[in-house]
Amino acid sequence: MEAVLAVDVGATWLRVGLVDISSLKLIKLTKVPTPQTHYSDAIPEALRSALMSTIAGVRLHRAAGVASIGPLDSTAGEILKAPNVVGRPSRVDVASPLIELGLVEEVYLINDCNAAALAEWWARRTEGVEDLLYVTISTGIGAGCVLSSRPLLGRRGNAMELGHVVVDPSGYLPCGCGGKGHWEAYGSGGNVLAFARRLLEDGHIPKSTQLWAYVDSGGRDPSEVFRLYRAADPGAAAFCERLASIQAAGLASAVNVLDPEVLVLGGSVYLGNRDFFVNDVFPMMERYLMLESPVMEDPVFGEHSPIVGAAIACSMELEGARVLKRK
Ligand SMILES: [Zn+2]
Repeated sequence: MEAVLAVDVGATWLRVGLVDISSLKLIKLTKVPTPQTHYSDAIPEALRSALMSTIAGVRLHRAAGVASIGPLDSTAGEILKAPNVVGRPSRVDVASPLIELGLVEEVYLINDCNAAALAEWWARRTEGVEDLLYVTISTGIGAGCVLSSRPLLGRRGNAMELGHVVVDPSGYLPCGCGGKGHWEAYGSGGNVLAFARRLLEDGHIPKSTQLWAYVDSGGRDPSEVFRLYRAADPGAAAFCERLASIQAAGLASAVNVLDPEVLVLGGSVYLGNRDFFVNDVFPMMERYLMLESPVMEDPVFGEHSPIVGAAIACSMELEGARVLKRK
């Protein structure tokens, strides 16, 4: 059997896998922590050693796929900068290690959320799905899209940075990217408590509530916000109403722009708090939607969507993801 070598460079984990392209099954996976340093060669070095332990004794397809955190220069095969990796390394070359080791002749590099969207669409294409939006609400907020059966990649592979769409033009909260009023700054797991803290400072969370006490004491676990929401704490109820409008604005804006048939929602904030989304966020989306709401579905591949999508990008020889510069 010939296997496609696929890599997923995440902010936390680096995954190297082998995918059987006919069944889309991940047949082997090596998962190592992503090095947290500003040194640009650290990720390629970790990639080299993970590669060697994964591919022993396997006949590889001539090309490989890499899904990665962005922003990217997909033509050059590089991560331009990695804002969610400690040290924020820039110009990280994730294509050359695969070619230099003589493993493959060609590499396809695709943003991890675009790869996930590609995988989720591929799994549904035989059902006739041509237009699919994938959104993950996790530590950050990411998205990818396939329209008319074609992945939307952009000039250098950075289309669909949906977490950085403006949901609040007042710019109440700064985003990690340097912009203001971006969805991710309010709605991601990494920022939900910063949003609550700012509201508390401005007097928008009622005192003598459990959420007020938790935020005031420096609490950092976003799941506590949702636990208090379920316990009907008035502070959490007030906060979650604001949070729901932010999540609804982000999702509805994407639907209005893209007109997808299917919306695949994933990520720990969504999957761990479906009740909040079903009861509060989805009904509020109707307030912002111009178009009909798409069918909401769960990810088929879970956390493996990006690595499977990387293998698919490679097997379909996806133009726009092909790395042209070889060193
Ligand atoms: Zn931003």
